[in-house]
Amino acid sequence: MKDSVTRALVLNQRVNIIVATTTNLVQEATTRHELWPTSATALGRTLSMGVIMGVQLKNEDDQITIRIDGDGPIGGVRVDANRLGHVKGYVKNNEVLLIKEDTYKLDVGKAVGQGTLSVSRNYGLKNEYTSSIDLVSGEIGEDFAYYYLQSEQLPSAVSVGVLVDTDGTIKSAGALLIQLLPDHTEEDILIIEDIITNLKPMSSLVLEGYTSQSLIESLFDDAQILESIEPQFKCDCDREQMERVLLTLPIEDLDELKNEDKGINLECQFCGEHYFFDEDQIDTLIERIQNGKNI
Ligand SMILES: [Zn+2]
Repeated sequence: MKDSVTRALVLNQRVNIIVATTTNLVQEATTRHELWPTSATALGRTLSMGVIMGVQLKNEDDQITIRIDGDGPIGGVRVDANRLGHVKGYVKNNEVLLIKEDTYKLDVGKAVGQGTLSVSRNYGLKNEYTSSIDLVSGEIGEDFAYYYLQSEQLPSAVSVGVLVDTDGTIKSAGALLIQLLPDHTEEDILIIEDIITNLKPMSSLVLEGYTSQSLIESLFDDAQILESIEPQFKCDCDREQMERVLLTLPIEDLDELKNEDKGINLECQFCGEHYFFDEDQIDTLIERIQNGKNI
């Protein structure tokens, strides 16, 4: 089944809900970065929240960057997302497998550790606005709920889950955000609390076959669907971007890489794509630097 993300208004437009099913894009990130289960879960949860935050942006060229900096073995998570449902991201340490002793579940909180969650919004090329909180538990769902309350002063419920199969592949993944808008009533709060209390884990709901839209419609009778699109793991790196990085290096360094390593192999941090430059291509780059300097 395809991934999907749906935005809707419910309870007479006093409550905002966004649901994302993200199994395929989390699998793609896991494959690209060769992630171990706890690393895959931490990145998968953050990518799923990235999809939700991305579609909340107003304009097509707006972007969001999520940074989780913790003192646990994962060493940090970074996710970029945009208005079109495109996300990319990585964890510092791909090979983390931590399991809770009592429940045998993956211990994301311990793997992330204590630290901060910060979200930067780029509106076109003009403004960047960053807001940060201290991590509540490092489990990511709770941290985002607290982030929304702090930064937007909107009471929010977040549920996010990634289920990793015994062979390390992603069985299911998804996220849900419910926000009480400023004109919500006391009764709305009780209804939402009741829904959240009885809500199965997101990974179970996705496994049962719900799409983002069918889940919203099963929870609320009066759902007014605003938008439903397919999110993707998508990186915007290309060879020219890598060339621009190499063009900033001193010529001596390029010479050394050419002579000793017989080429340069660059890897994109976000998607794991490799870009190889052979000896002739390095010579061309050196010529371009020299020509630039002569102008
Ligand atoms: Zn890339």
